[in-house]
Amino acid sequence: MTKIGVLAVQGDFAEHCQMLKRLGVEVMEVRLPKHLEGVSGLIIPGGESTTITKLMRLYELTDVIIGRVRGGMPIWGTCAGMIVVSHHIVEDGMQPMDLIDLDVRRNAFGRQVDSFEMDLSVSALGEVPFHAVFIRAPIIERLGPQVELLTSLDDGTPVAARQGKVLVSAFHPELTEDTRFHRLFLKLAGVELKDRESH
Ligand code: GLN
Repeated sequence: MTKIGVLAVQGDFAEHCQMLKRLGVEVMEVRLPKHLEGVSGLIIPGGESTTITKLMRLYELTDVIIGRVRGGMPIWGTCAGMIVVSHHIVEDGMQPMDLIDLDVRRNAFGRQVDSFEMDLSVSALGEVPFHAVFIRAPIIERLGPQVELLTSLDDGTPVAARQGKVLVSAFHPELTEDTRFHRLFLKLAGVELKDRESH
C-alpha cells in the first residue's frame, strides 16, 4: 500500500495524519531521513517556519527532501510548509528549499487579522467553495511562469498554487472536515482511494 509521509518535527502534523488515516491512507511520521524511504509523497504542515527549517537541517532532512522532490516525489506545504518550500521569503533572512517558483511573505495579514476563515472558490476542487482557515498566514507575492494559481482572496491575493507535483496552500485544510484538498494531493501522489466518503 502507498504510504504518505507527514513531516513531524513541529506544527500541526497530527491533524494531517488524522485526515489521511480517515481517508484510509497509510501514514509515516517523518522525523529522520530513513522515514522517507518508501513514502510516495510528503506533507509539510503549518507551524513555525523558522523552527521547522532549523529542525529539518538538524535532522539532516533538508537535502534528502530536496533530492526526493527533484526526483519526482510530490510535496504539499500548508501555511508554514508553504513558506519552507518556496523560492524566496520576502524581507526575511531564512533560506527556503526552492521547490516551487514563488515568493512568499510571512505573517502577511498583521496582528489585527491574526486569524480568519473564508470560503474560497477553488476550481480544481469542484463547484462547492472550500472553507479556508488562515492562521498567521503567509501570502504569495510572486508566482513564476510555470506555477498554476489554484485560488486567491477576493482582493486577488494568491493563496494556493501548484507547480508540477508541488502543491502549496497558505491555509489549513487539515483543520476542517473537508477532505478535498487532501484528495487532490493524494491524486498527485498516485494514491488510489477506496471511496469511503462522498468528499
Ligand atoms: N506564521 C507562521 C510562520 O511564519 C506560519 C503560521 C502557520 O503555519 N499557521 O512560520
